[in-house]
Amino acid sequence: MQLANPNLLKLQNYINGEWRDGASTIDVRDPANGELLAQVADGSAADAEAAVAAASAAFPAWKSKTAAERAAVLKRWYQLIMDNADDLARILTLEQGKPLAEAKGEIVYGASFIEWFAEECRRAYGQTIPTHNPAMRLSTIRQPVGVVTCITPWNFPNAMITRKAAPALAAGCTVVIKPAVETPLSALALCQLAEEAGLPKGTINMVVGTDAPGIGQVLTQDARVAKFTFTGSTNVGKLLMAQCASTVKKMSMELGGNAPFIVFDDADLDTAVAACVATKFRNAGQTCVSTNRIYVHEAVHDEFVVKLRAAVAEMKIGHGCDDGVSVGPVIHRRAAERVNGLVQDAIAAGAKVELGGDYLPHGENYYAPTLITGVTDEMRIAREEIFGPLAPVQKFSDEDDVVRRANETPYGLAAYVMSENIRRANRVVEALEYGMVACNTGVFSTAVAPFGGSKESGIGREGGVEGMAEFYETKYCCFGA
Ligand code: ADP
Repeated sequence: MQLANPNLLKLQNYINGEWRDGASTIDVRDPANGELLAQVADGSAADAEAAVAAASAAFPAWKSKTAAERAAVLKRWYQLIMDNADDLARILTLEQGKPLAEAKGEIVYGASFIEWFAEECRRAYGQTIPTHNPAMRLSTIRQPVGVVTCITPWNFPNAMITRKAAPALAAGCTVVIKPAVETPLSALALCQLAEEAGLPKGTINMVVGTDAPGIGQVLTQDARVAKFTFTGSTNVGKLLMAQCASTVKKMSMELGGNAPFIVFDDADLDTAVAACVATKFRNAGQTCVSTNRIYVHEAVHDEFVVKLRAAVAEMKIGHGCDDGVSVGPVIHRRAAERVNGLVQDAIAAGAKVELGGDYLPHGENYYAPTLITGVTDEMRIAREEIFGPLAPVQKFSDEDDVVRRANETPYGLAAYVMSENIRRANRVVEALEYGMVACNTGVFSTAVAPFGGSKESGIGREGGVEGMAEFYETKYCCFGA
């Protein structure tokens, strides 16, 4: 791997400020062509325990620093990430597949959480409370919860880590992270830069491992861990929540979605198409906020489909490192097969493929950007999270009815509304049972705003003041006479 800064290619686990081998190694491959990129130490449950012990030992000193002292270290980390953004983006594209420009975007986005929480931790104000008894004085202080453990997915190998680790570290917590085995290189490079930035040993630890259940058990059940935070599938999230119950850990869960994208007849169709493409085909559709169901008003349905078809047909498919590529491979063959299964199921149930609908010759993990019409709410494609470059369009005729259909899912992460009518837009934004609703845009996530879901899409928020609050315990202090 050609990097301007070869120090960024780390192949060992990072525990207590040391780089440690595992009993064996994990192959890290380029999803675009199967090429072997690196072999990374395969960490174990015992490594996870050592990491928790290190984080626990490092906690008293880290929490005792002033917010300004922690912020200074975090800002150095932020700056080092920005200085190495090109290399980090290249590593990310090679192991994950997204186009280089998107990877660079993720690095900058990921770093922005570190910068923002470094600033925000200086404002961890408590309160003085008007007393109920003249002989008593009441106040609150906010203190870091303690050791935080994180399990993160492969779709945003950088940002899903910084979104958790930055507020935790800023608050004064120490962290142990288990990144996805598909994308350990981006994760370990972050640790290298954290070390260079001066994060004390044990404050940040990372264990990559194929024994996800074994490592997961330690991270969710060790009594020294105060909080567990997870981004991944709803099924695994539910399992991990159950594991957290035995020691009543605080939890944040960012799970699956089934995002509706509603195009009203008063929408600006060019805006709607651009937003749809952005939410649907970014990262080859592999984001938890990717549009999953596109509802278009019958009066504009055909025109919208023509425009969307033209936009999808223009997409350049290829290796993420090649110039101008807008859609890369999906993460592995299983993912491509899942998408194809949804397409075949929809066709069998009467849907029509307007574009794509098949694997591509570029490599075994490539699936064509696909547009399907004639979809119904009963099809699997409308009920399951697609996580691929597949846009399924349905018609609607009535506002109340489309809102009801959009809400008819156990998920509640993101939803999109396209309308130029401010009263309707407001009405629908408020009626949608989702943690996040974007109106007339397809990209909304930022470090300054709370990201997260309702219903089975999760618990808690990442980003914004809400994201910071997740890592503090509020202590009520009562002073008697
Ligand atoms: P995806 O299907 O997108 O890979 P997962 O929920 O399976 O989503 O994976 C997200 C993260 O959860 C990854 O880091 C993965 O290794 C981890 N994971 C999967 N299963 C378990 C488990 N049983 N215990 C702990 N972690 C797990």
